[in-house]
Amino acid sequence: MTRATSVAGDPAARAVELLSSMGVTMPAPGSLVARTPITGAALTTLTASSGADVDAAIGKAANAFRDWRTVPAPQRAAVVRRLGELLREHLHELGELATLEAGKIGAEARGEVQEMIDVCEFAVGLSRQLYGRTMASERPGHRLMETWHPLGVVGVLSAFNFPVAVWSWNTAIALVCGDTVVWKPSETTPLTALAGHALLRRAAVEVGADPEIHQLVQGAADVGERLVDDERVALLSATGSVRMGRTVGPRVAARFGRCLLELGGNNAAIVTASADLELTTRAVVFAAAGTAGQRCTTLRRVIAHTDVVAALGDRLCDAYHQLRVGDPLEDGVLVGPLINGRAYTSMQDALARALADGGELLCGGERVIVHGEESYYVRPAIVRMPAQTEVVREETFAPILYVLTYYDFDDAIALHNQVPQGLSSTVFTRDQREAERFLAADGSDCGIANVNIGTSGAEIGGAFGGEKQTGGGRESGSDSWKAYMRRATNTINYSTELPLAQGIEFSPVSS
Ligand code: NAD
Repeated sequence: MTRATSVAGDPAARAVELLSSMGVTMPAPGSLVARTPITGAALTTLTASSGADVDAAIGKAANAFRDWRTVPAPQRAAVVRRLGELLREHLHELGELATLEAGKIGAEARGEVQEMIDVCEFAVGLSRQLYGRTMASERPGHRLMETWHPLGVVGVLSAFNFPVAVWSWNTAIALVCGDTVVWKPSETTPLTALAGHALLRRAAVEVGADPEIHQLVQGAADVGERLVDDERVALLSATGSVRMGRTVGPRVAARFGRCLLELGGNNAAIVTASADLELTTRAVVFAAAGTAGQRCTTLRRVIAHTDVVAALGDRLCDAYHQLRVGDPLEDGVLVGPLINGRAYTSMQDALARALADGGELLCGGERVIVHGEESYYVRPAIVRMPAQTEVVREETFAPILYVLTYYDFDDAIALHNQVPQGLSSTVFTRDQREAERFLAADGSDCGIANVNIGTSGAEIGGAFGGEKQTGGGRESGSDSWKAYMRRATNTINYSTELPLAQGIEFSPVSS
């Protein structure tokens, strides 16, 4: 097991060392630059996939699908089981690479790899539970049932902030379902993608499966667009911004392909008068400032009862002052860098707009220089807002927490739902009526609705995804696997008669 070192050494050399420990041979240099947000320096360059490369990768995945779909699901699971074992072996290396490339602190980066291991275990169990139903037929001597079949090639577009976990959610489930995968990771995190791909290919070879079941293509949106438009891609699972989903969704629909969209969130917590403020503060701080505010489930809005808003604001600011911002490879650091200068600019723009709307900056927001001018570290900000203005209704992918106030619980729910996104939500309360009301049909309109726990850090056992502009997709646990398969309804007549459904008589033959 190798140990993380401060990036003050040579991050580029360290990245190569980590990659080679996971069996990756460095690709030819090219125009795609892999950087570390820790210093802003280039780690290496890679060749982006050409149109012909993407075309060939989809072709290989489509060919591999022909045999893969007929391998029994529990046998397909052998690849995923082995992948899980390799991830366990390389948890520290892959985690450190995710830290180098995405800037996550060590604990969160290792948590990301743990999540991959968890989803592999889930998928292995699932391989024996791809159940179809048997329904009561209305006709005598007939059996009515459904069977689930693999879909084909699944294209996976992933975002920078979960450089490997989101891929694994899709891939582990897709593979046991009998699909093959073409992955286009974020152009910001190509190295962790090389590692994930190499580990999966190795797992396939070691269990005697065809390694062509998984393909990796690298590059920016233009490379992703090839997957979007290719009719051989049966399902496109796209994780990223609402802007991306707006382009991708209609294009896949235009060719009658399937799309699974996991887009941006604008997640909120209602903090009621009865809330346990100590527990609430701890949950809010992790959800709002963790991953430097760069999770789709990051807590962006607190809607606090007038009786507790001042006390909660004080507690949160106290906790924020103790957050150590810095090099994510250093022990004790809890807030690493923003991904790049663009993220910093959009945070500053949002803060300026919030203040212009009458917001009061309670704490944070300023830049912290850690490793020179080419990297972007900030103190997480808390802004008290007089109203839910336009900027609050948008997702700014940075650590800004807006605090709003309510008096009546119905107003809190209305405020909560008055944003275009619908990913994750929570209520902090000791009143069971309020908790149940929040979870009821006229409560939170999000795909994830929690009680007395933060909005981020979901377990893989549940279905993950959100409503409205978040895209409606569901990934990971529960019955999300159904998105990766097609359903056939089968009616079997084992009688000597031919009764028609709905009692229809249709016989030209006179008896
Ligand atoms: P992004 O939308 O810029 O990019 C996501 C991926 O889509 C990248 O691989 C990118 O190259 C690709 N892409 C972008 N435009 C495309 C196009 N027109 N055609 C094909 N591919 C295209 O997102 P990002 O900045 O990497 O990630 C941050 C965003 O992702 C945030 O909005 C965050 O909320 C969201 N996100 C959502 C989830 C979720 O599960 N709901 C999870 C992680 C991140």
